Order: sequence, then structure tokens, then C-alpha cells
Amino acid sequence: MRSSFLSFSLPLIGQEEINEVVEALKSGWLTSGPRTKQFEQDFRDSVQAPAALALNSCTAGLHVALKVLNVGPGDEVITTPMTFAASVNVIEHVGATPVLVDVEPDTLNIQPDAVERAITQNTKAIIAVHYAGHPVELNALRAIAEQYHLHLIEDAAHAVGASFEGQPIGSGSNLTAFSFYATKNLTTGEGGMLTGDPDLLDHARIVSLHGMNREAWSRYSAGGKWAYDIVEPGFKYNMTDIQAALGLQQLKRFDRMQERRREIVQTYNSAFGHSGAFLTPTTREHVTNAWHLYVLRLRSSELTIGRDQFIQEMTARNIGTSVHFIPIHMHSFYRNKYNYVPDDFPVAHAAFQQMLSLPLSPSMSHQDVADVIDAVLDIRATFGRRRAAA
Ligand SMILES: *Cc1c(COP(=O)(O)O)cnc(C)c1O
Repeated sequence: MRSSFLSFSLPLIGQEEINEVVEALKSGWLTSGPRTKQFEQDFRDSVQAPAALALNSCTAGLHVALKVLNVGPGDEVITTPMTFAASVNVIEHVGATPVLVDVEPDTLNIQPDAVERAITQNTKAIIAVHYAGHPVELNALRAIAEQYHLHLIEDAAHAVGASFEGQPIGSGSNLTAFSFYATKNLTTGEGGMLTGDPDLLDHARIVSLHGMNREAWSRYSAGGKWAYDIVEPGFKYNMTDIQAALGLQQLKRFDRMQERRREIVQTYNSAFGHSGAFLTPTTREHVTNAWHLYVLRLRSSELTIGRDQFIQEMTARNIGTSVHFIPIHMHSFYRNKYNYVPDDFPVAHAAFQQMLSLPLSPSMSHQDVADVIDAVLDIRATFGRRRAAA
């Protein structure tokens, strides 16, 4: 057993990131400036996006997306229960009503058929989450959005580096929000990016910074650089150059980091794929998986312990794990407000009870990966259900 605790998700920060942050600090530009602009351009190019807006979180991106699409009170937004609270909290923030629908049993992504069944006269948008880095069925969702005149917003917090039928996530004209939170595939500590149609993003830029429009003012006056006009009560969601400095260097090492993720995933798959006790993650043929998470599901018929004890046993073996996610409808705010019971979304609920996320980070050594595998297989050997001889 390993002697030190293996953290669930340790970021890979090199000397290049450290140097760039120091340069940013020395430059005198601490808030949004040249590095933020450069990072926006580099990120936009890397996902082939029509335009990009750097923000201080993915949550900010989703909130601003709903604002510029004019989603508000009386509107319904269809989304998934298998996500982080941020995807649904923003719907509450704009005064709209989240409508949850269940997920597909294999990818745990939102079911397009269930989305279509949930549409009412009040439906205004769909927020689709690329769970664990596996893209949603974009063609089906785009067709539904078009047919019913809905906005499709992508929560791509897990999906930097993912693609659907060869098209990078973020390359479409619909609004797509990425996260650079500390645990995500590319990190700026805290940070996010909104991609999509350039006109929508021009508006999003204003909404994301106090509703401040410098052009609107200069049109009506001979005002200097000090002049600005507040055209609506916006938010304070801009990225700083210190964050962008990290992002610029993370982007440079991104392909290598993804390569290492894929290696680790393959090693895990070959270690666990043949055991009846585990369900390993699947990837559909027409997508590139960004592998943000490695979600292992336990087959309860093959083990004498449940997920919670499995996690305790991992911790006892010095391996950090997590659970993604406690479904939205099981959190007290949503449960109480919308009277949900766990089985309202049976696929999400059943998956939740079986799942744990194993450590997955390009910072992991070969020994780290071997230690995770040893721990999992040791727990299976200790708590595997023995069958009576026939
Ligand atoms: C991390 C995460 C977010 C929020 O990202 P922030 O950058 O922390 O705001 C949103 N959605 C999902 C699915 C996430 O995992």
C-alpha cells in the first residue's frame, strides 16, 4: 500500500506557468489586459470557435449566456440532473424554471428523447452538459432546438478537447461555456470561457462587465478614454491577466496533458474492464472524449459492500476519490422546491448509487496509476461476492 495520500485531482503546473504568472505580475497589468486578450484568441483558435470571451468562471459563462438569450421569469430551461449545481443554479438566478430530464444509461448524458417529451409552450432553452468529457448527442439536440425554436447552451466544463463528429466542442455558433477551475483539464485556478456567435458575445462582454459600453458613449460625445455608459446592470465576471497567464501556458501543454489522460484511461480500462464487479466508462464511436473524469460503476450483485464503503476502503488505502455527481434533484433546495423524489430520474439515481471517480490527472506517475489499480483490485478481492460451486 502506498505511504502518502494520492490526491483525487492534482493540477499539472510547470515552471512555464510560474514564469508567465511572474511576468504578468511584473508587467503592471493585473486585471483583464493583453494576456487575457491573447488567451481568448489562443483558446478560440484551439477549439475553432467563432469568437471567445474570457470570464472568471464557467458559472459566469452560463449565467451570462442565459441573460443575453433573454431567458427569465416564466421561461423553462431543460437540463440534466447529472451535473454540478452551477448548471442549474444559474437558471434559478435568472428567475426561470429548471426542468430536469433523465440521462442515458451508458454516457450519463441528457437523453434527447426525454428532452423532446419535456418541451412545453414555456420552454426557452436547453442546457446540455458534456458529462465527464463525453459529448452529448449534439445532432439530435440541435435538431430539437431548431424544430421547437429553443436555444441550445452547452455546459462544456468537462469538455475542453472533446469533439463531436470531428468538430471540436465550442466550434458551433451556439453559446458554450468552459471551466478552468483547479480540477478541470485546463486550469487557471478559477476561470472560464464563453464561445459562440460573435454578436452574442459582444453583448455578453458588456453584460459580463457591469453593463459598461464604451462605444455607446463615444457615439454621442467627444468623450476621452475615461468615458463609458452603463446600458444595463451587468455583472463583474471578467478574467484577470494573472489567470490568463496560467491559461496561456496550460494551453501550450494541453495536447500532451490529454495524451497522458488517455494513457491512464487505457490502463484503467484494461485493469477493470474484464471484471464482472465493475462497469467501465464507454465512448461512442463518433466522438472524441476529453476524459475529464474516470467514473467507475460498481455492480452491487458482485460485491458485498456498497459505494460508500468502497470509497472508505480506497481512502484507507491512501487513494483519493470523488463522486460526480449527487444528482440535482437530491439536493435539499431542489428537492423541496420541486418536490422531487430520488426515483424521478431513475437512471441518474441508480448510476449515482454505484459510481465513484478515480484519480485522473496528467500529473500522475506510473506508480500512482498502479497504486490506484492495486487498491481497486484489492478491495474487489476482499469484498467480492463468493458464489457457491454449482
Ligand atoms: C466545474 C463545473 C461547473 C462550474 O465551473 P466553474 O468554472 O467552477 O464555475 C459547471 N458545470 C459543470 C458540469 C462542472 O463540472
